[in-house]
Amino acid sequence: MLDMKKLVKYAGIAFGVIVLFCGAVIGYCLSQPEPEGFPILEYHMVQAEEPKEAAAYNVPVEEFQQQLDYLQAEGYTTISIRDFLRAKKGLQELPAKPVILTFDDGYRTNYTELLPLLEARNMKATIFMVGNDIGQDKYLTWEQLRDMQKRGIEIGSHTANHLPLTDMDLATAREEVKLSKLLMEWNKVDTIYTLSYPNGKFTPELRDMLKEEEYLAAVTGDPGYNTFDTDPYLLQRTNIPHPTFGLLEFKWRLLKTRIWTQLGINQHIQ
Ligand SMILES: [Zn+2]
Repeated sequence: MLDMKKLVKYAGIAFGVIVLFCGAVIGYCLSQPEPEGFPILEYHMVQAEEPKEAAAYNVPVEEFQQQLDYLQAEGYTTISIRDFLRAKKGLQELPAKPVILTFDDGYRTNYTELLPLLEARNMKATIFMVGNDIGQDKYLTWEQLRDMQKRGIEIGSHTANHLPLTDMDLATAREEVKLSKLLMEWNKVDTIYTLSYPNGKFTPELRDMLKEEEYLAAVTGDPGYNTFDTDPYLLQRTNIPHPTFGLLEFKWRLLKTRIWTQLGINQHIQ
């Protein structure tokens, strides 16, 4: 028979060992110089009203403002993916501490609630649109999209129908990324050259196909710092869901990004 007392004791010891090990790893990483590169943050919606069915994807306005203030206090400057790609070619300089803010899916509140928060702080962002959702209930309209672009927001593709590209054959995946790009360009959105993989799922074949379809960069859901050596079609990105532990959780997610980079966990180096 199982001795419960012994079991609890061993579980306690195992937990203690894990905590000590994690503490040692974090301590080691922090004692080393910060690695090269910068984070890309992945958001979905920022709005005051919590959506019942998608609360996990919403960062409430107040919490988002705290995050932006924290980034500014830490000396970060927002850039676009275009800035990064131009800097990689030597065509422009990057600020000392860049960060890219990205927003997937293209919710209408990106225009009504998010945009004013960014503009008040002179910050840039990139929004990845699902082609066939544009103008639908809850999603950005064509007019809002074009206006945001005029106001300095970068627009990218999140495919035509928001289905994981790994769940279909390559020919269908090619149609998904081609169609969303053409649809937006036909509707007078400037050239689309970046993509966010639905569900963050990709394969080496998809990566090569994007290049053939004249995309210049794509973002994953794998955290890590980005440098000029990062594969531009597999840029590292840190997910920022609805916070449970406030700003502390945000800081932890940034720290985790640094630690993953330092330990080389799932880093997409070219
Ligand atoms: Zn999405």
